[in-house]
Parts: sequence; structure tokens; C-alpha cells
Amino acid sequence: MAIHTKDSIRDRAFDDIYASTDLSVSMPKYKMSEGEHDPRHVYQVVHDELMLDGNSRQNLATFCQTWVEDESRRLMDECVDKNMIDKDEYPQTAEIESRCVHIIADLWNAPEAANTLGCSTTGSSEAAMLGGLALKWKWRKKMQAAGKPTDRPNLICGPVQICWHKFARYFDVELREIPLEGDRLIMSPEEVLKRVDENTIGVVPTMGVTFTCDYEPVKAVSDALDKLQKDTGLDIPIHVDGASGGFLAPFCAPEIEWDFRLPRVHSINASGHKFGLAPLGVGWIIWRDAASLPEELIFNVNYLGGNMPTFALNFSRPGGQVVAQYYNFLRLGKDGYRRIQTACYDTARYLADEIGKLGPFRILFDGDMKKGIPALSWTLKEDDNGKVNFTLYDLADRLRSRGWQVPAYSMPVNREDLVVQRILVRHGVSRDLASLLMDDIRRSLDYFEKHPVARPMSEEEAGGFRH
Ligand SMILES: *Cc1c(COP(=O)(O)O)cnc(C)c1O
Repeated sequence: MAIHTKDSIRDRAFDDIYASTDLSVSMPKYKMSEGEHDPRHVYQVVHDELMLDGNSRQNLATFCQTWVEDESRRLMDECVDKNMIDKDEYPQTAEIESRCVHIIADLWNAPEAANTLGCSTTGSSEAAMLGGLALKWKWRKKMQAAGKPTDRPNLICGPVQICWHKFARYFDVELREIPLEGDRLIMSPEEVLKRVDENTIGVVPTMGVTFTCDYEPVKAVSDALDKLQKDTGLDIPIHVDGASGGFLAPFCAPEIEWDFRLPRVHSINASGHKFGLAPLGVGWIIWRDAASLPEELIFNVNYLGGNMPTFALNFSRPGGQVVAQYYNFLRLGKDGYRRIQTACYDTARYLADEIGKLGPFRILFDGDMKKGIPALSWTLKEDDNGKVNFTLYDLADRLRSRGWQVPAYSMPVNREDLVVQRILVRHGVSRDLASLLMDDIRRSLDYFEKHPVARPMSEEEAGGFRH
């Protein structure tokens, strides 16, 4: 019997999925279908289409977690119906969030961990908006009290992640991004001081710069601002973007003073879903003390039952990510985090060594745990320009054919001429996986040798790279 003529429901229930009436024809894609479909069939259609996405474990561009323990998955599944905002309905989830805030504040050396304020967010981007808003409101109050104008706030930073450009545009703040110069690819205290004035709401150093992976010199900037205050009276707060470094430095470089040990650091954000090792969808922001977070920014909602203070851009959001973050804190402890992150640094250094030895590349960052995050970045050697017949975009494209995603991109203002390639070594990028990648990089260079690229690929042709 032809499949389309079966009409008994029982007959159809036994159909092979791919011989079914649903899958033997094309499913509607841009308009909702009139009727229903069998859940098994639809699952298979969606599942199959997702095969064409890149394999996340081979995505060496992302800072985010791509390895999830089974127990984490189970907790995520058990929390799929819990709304993080309903703190009265799900008091234990709220309690777990609060414990995480204390654990993180303590990790960042908050003077009195129990009195710090903080919350979970959807990631560092939302956390950055909240941190930036607190800086802006505090600055505005100070200016109003002094009878000064409040219409031209500015924020000083080095080469920042896109979220700070968003913050500046969405909330009307002038972003004074320090341009790069020669080999200086991060902020320096001198460059910060050149841009400070009484309209500066704060300075944002990054612990783990997106482009090169370095830590910016938080302490040196803080010291320079201390001196500025002594000389001029200007008191400029620091917010640290610790998206990656916030969950690395405490374990692998505890001697670096970048956190609340520096009195000038008012707030810090980090991505739980990056080196916090939680599944995608959680970030954190912590304020040093209640005085750093203007109370006007906190809303009290009573319609969920109880009176709950909230400070967030989102309202409803799933509870599982926060629960999984707490699971990681309990499961791993400081020792577990240190061992996982150290293994990542070791692999990053191995890759930097091997790639450096190949010849055409100059390593910009080699995965040194005292200087940045477990990652490496490199560029084509300047003096070899003209000797090699490929660009880093060509290499990225070639590696993509084996499933590896190793982005190439140009640097921000003043060094747009510098094209860089970068690898993030995350939990789950083992030494064996790294050596398989090395084999493919060597094979790619051989390939370019034998098949010179007639017209090397440009950034535009490569499709650009989203940071
Ligand atoms: C990833 C990143 C962000 C944005 O974080 P999300 O968690 O993706 O929103 C901000 N700043 C830096 C330095 C980052 O690495």
C-alpha cells in the first residue's frame, strides 16, 4: 500500500519516521501549518536540521562552556519549569542564587562578603548594563549635589567587548575607548589618565581582553587613579569586566590584585557560562557594598507574593543555570576549578609552542596564567609578508572544512591593520583534541604550499567575525 493512502491511525503509528506522511513531504517553514504533526516526526525533522550547525566542542572561537556534566543536565531538566524571578514561589532557587552571590563575593575578596550586593543575570552583557547604570547614577547624584551639569557622562575603557559599546549607546554615555598603539594592545594607566575628567563615571578594565586574551593592569590603573585623587580630588570608580578572568584569576593567579582588594573597585561582572563552567545563560554582578548600588535602581515587586527587591533588565528567566552554577561550586570546590583551568592553560601553552614552531606565525599571547586567560592568539609574521601566499582568513576557512572553528579578525581602532587568529581552550579541549587540531593546521600549511591561494581571502569575504 502506498504510504499516502494509509488511513487507519494504527497503520500510521507503525510507520517508519522517514516513510511517514510527514517526512516524505517538505514541512512548512515560514508559515505555521494548518494542522498538527506527530511529535516523533517533528522532533526528527528539527533534530536533523540542527546537525548542520557547527559542532560546539570544535568551536574554538567561543569563550562559553560546551561541556556539560550529566548531573548538570539533569538539574537543568528538573528546573526547566522554574522561573528565576518568582522568588516567593521558588524560595530555594532564590536561596541558591543568594548563596552563589556570597560564594563569588568571597572569591573576589569582598571585604565583608555577607554584606555585598549582587545578583545573577543572563550573562556578562546584562551584568555590564547593570554595572554601568550604577556608575552613571552614582556620578549623576554626585554632580547634582555639586550643582554641576549631568548631560555629558563618559566611560573610559581599553579594547572592550561589544557589550560596553551597547551600554554606551543604549544609555547615552560617551565611550572613551583607548585606541591601540604599536605593540600596546591593551589599556595603560597613562592612557586612562589622559582621558579622565569630572564627567567620567568610571573606568572599565577587562580581565581577559576579547581580542588578545590578556589581563589589563587593574592595579596599576587603580594606583594611578589614587594618585589622581590625591592631586586633584577627582574620585573615579572602577568596574572590572571579569567576564572570563573573574573565574580564572582567583584559582590560577591569586596574587594578582584586580578585585575588591582594591578599594577603588566598586563592582565586578563575570560570565558563569564561561570559565564559571555553568551551562549557557548565566552571568553575575557583585557590588562592593550597598553604597555602590544606588537604591533608586532597585525595584520592589509585590505582585508575585512577598516583597522582592530586583535589579535586572529581564523579568522571567529559567532557574536551571543558576542551580547548575551552584552544583559546580559544590561539585568542584576551589581545587576542582584550579585543576580544570590549569589543564586548559597547559593545553593553551602547548598549542602556542607548536604553532610558534611552524614558522610563519608570531605568537601574541601564549596562554600564560599570570597574564591572561587559557587561550592563545597569533598573527602572520610581518617580515614574512609576501613570503606566505595565504591569509589567516584562508587558514580559518581551511580548518573549517574539518569542523574546527578558529576565527581570524582584525584588531580595533588604530591597529585595524593587524589581523589576528585566536583559540580559546576550554573545559573539554583535551591535549589529544589539541594535537588533532595541530595535525590539521600542518596539513593546511602543506596544502597552501602545494596549492598557492591565487587571491588571498579578505575579512569581508571571510564574512567577518562576531566577538
Ligand atoms: C563574553 C564577554 C562579554 C559578554 O558576556 P556574555 O556572557 O556573552 O553576555 C563581556 N565582556 C567580555 C570581556 C567578554 O569576554
